[in-house]
Amino acid sequence: MILKAEYVWIDGHEPWGLRSKVKVISNFSNADLDSVLSGDVSSLPEWGFDGSSTLQADGDDSDCLLKPVYATRDPLRDENSILVMCEVLNADGSVHATNKRAALDGLIAGHSLDQLDPWFGIEQEFTIIDDGRPLGFPANGYPAPQGMYYCSAGGDRAFGREISDDHMEACIEAGIAITGTNAEVMPGQWEYQVGGPGIGAKLVSDQLWISRWLLLKIAEAYGMTVTFDAKPMLGDWNGAGAHTNFSTNTMRADGGMKVIEEACEKLGTQEARDRHLAAYGTGTELRLTGAHETCSWDEYKYGIADRTASIRIPRGVANDGKGYLEDRRPNANCDPYEVTRVLLETCCT
Ligand code: ADP
Ligand code: MN
Ligand code: MN
Ligand code: MN
Repeated sequence: MILKAEYVWIDGHEPWGLRSKVKVISNFSNADLDSVLSGDVSSLPEWGFDGSSTLQADGDDSDCLLKPVYATRDPLRDENSILVMCEVLNADGSVHATNKRAALDGLIAGHSLDQLDPWFGIEQEFTIIDDGRPLGFPANGYPAPQGMYYCSAGGDRAFGREISDDHMEACIEAGIAITGTNAEVMPGQWEYQVGGPGIGAKLVSDQLWISRWLLLKIAEAYGMTVTFDAKPMLGDWNGAGAHTNFSTNTMRADGGMKVIEEACEKLGTQEARDRHLAAYGTGTELRLTGAHETCSWDEYKYGIADRTASIRIPRGVANDGKGYLEDRRPNANCDPYEVTRVLLETCCT
């Protein structure tokens, strides 16, 4: 077959952008496609790009390498099409500074963390942008104040449902572990979740990046775009986060509540707080103000069912005495390779 493989990578901008280019590979075998889609991407060639156009290299030495690490079916093209998440390498094959996946990989291998069977579920919030402003905001002035938009229905309050729904279908078709969607508190703002039971750090992150890319491409077809900005509208409007739900086998076993509380204590040291906020994306001070269901960035607390805490232990988890914790601090524009790495580093090493 002729395979169309869209190689996706994270660029060098702050905050990041996603880039992609399509490789047309002739004589690709069905057997190779089957193994690629079941997790062995070794039959996909490395590729290169012009790093001087993405803030990843200088013009006089501009070649960067793309190393395939994860692939899915491309739900937006025909059945001979795939999406390929890539790590970026320097021309000499060393890890590029923007490549945070390599460090996550190294931490997991170095501490044999697979033994703990860590699971992650990430709640990705985002804002649909139409004509330079969040969908649902008028050209002049403001929409009605927040209160009626969260999980709403109706043309006067739910803005952009087609994009959220198309994206959910695309993720399911691609085999991404999407677990739900909802309209959020600010007009034009939505959430979907990726991960959960059985999904580890690298897989949830690879899938989240591909899901973000799909979301951008789907919005593009509507003549709109999406921002992952942590605080797209200043003032009395909710920001956008990426709550990260996390568990290990000991947290999920009987007596796990004690392990969860120990993890919350480790996360509360000043050293850990600084290291985590540095890894949780940009716009922290604007978003984590203490209002709008957040805990202020310069405070730390954890609590059961507490949406004003840094870390929430869900009510059901407290009732069962085992389960998982929710770190509410990561921003919507976080790099999940970094978020999952620091959580593993602090709680499991
Ligand atoms: P919230 O109540 O905070 O809005 P959501 O339902 O949006 O929570 O997201 C919770 C996420 O946590 C889901 O993606 C779910 O799959 C994931 N999750 C559930 N159990 C676990 C677990 N034991 N470890 C890690 N993630 C989990
Ligand atoms: Mn949620
Ligand atoms: Mn939410
Ligand atoms: Mn949440």
